[in-house]
Amino acid sequence: MSTTPSRTATVADVVALLDQRYPPAWAEQWDRVGLVLGEPSAPVRRIACVVDCVPETVAEALEAGADLIVAHHPLLLRGVSSVAPTTYKGRIIHQLIKNDIALYVAHTNADVANPGVSDALAARLGLTDLRPLHPPAPGSPAAGQGRGLGRIGQLPQPMTLAELARHTARVLPATAWGVRAAGEPDRMVSTVAVSGGSGDSFLTDATAAEVDVFLTADLRHHPASEHVAEGGPALLDAAHWATERPWLDDLAAYLRDSLGVTTLVSDLDTDPWTVHAASPASPVDKEPRP
Ligand SMILES: [Zn+2]
Repeated sequence: MSTTPSRTATVADVVALLDQRYPPAWAEQWDRVGLVLGEPSAPVRRIACVVDCVPETVAEALEAGADLIVAHHPLLLRGVSSVAPTTYKGRIIHQLIKNDIALYVAHTNADVANPGVSDALAARLGLTDLRPLHPPAPGSPAAGQGRGLGRIGQLPQPMTLAELARHTARVLPATAWGVRAAGEPDRMVSTVAVSGGSGDSFLTDATAAEVDVFLTADLRHHPASEHVAEGGPALLDAAHWATERPWLDDLAAYLRDSLGVTTLVSDLDTDPWTVHAASPASPVDKEPRP
């Protein structure tokens, strides 16, 4: 849907538009998506797009004069019995309501969509011929039309794992974490699976798809070690925020084109890690062998 430029969009218009592109029924069962707060009839001229709705990104939205925030991560995922302003999340909620800023969340329903969060990540790497890494079960609401969690695609040209790690660090938003890789650094890779956010539940999908390398975030020692030891694809581990931030550009363009609103895309790194100190002889930092 779209509104005529002569009428100012409302919160209800934004909800209808985003619910159409990212139907709440496509979200995982445990997820909590959609409108969190905001009067449906309130006008929306400026929208802030953020990965995390935290005090720092709310301050950005406030300064930019945003009427609505679209966040990727749910502010309220588990049950709450209080939104008192003396609590971390309660303070955020009070600030939003007091300043007439609505909040909408598109999380796993935006992950599974086509185009979705991992398409934007794949585009940063230059991957082509995209297909889902983990398609929805047949008959589930999101099934069909190329939808699914994660994407698999081809690099423009094969390169070593070490080169791909450096390429990935260059094309993703900068973070203290950067990118680390698991696997033989000189191994040639061309078929790449990507999954924005915490993707270690898709390690078996990456192995089954016989990709050369899998890029995601939040990989842990035991699952990663066992995956590599069993001959699975090489792994790239980036900062969680950096793997999801690329989607905000796609989201903002869609909102501008559909509603005629102005947008702010937050580049504020909300990853919790703020320092990275490479060991002097870290193999990851070595130049590739000739
Ligand atoms: Zn995430």
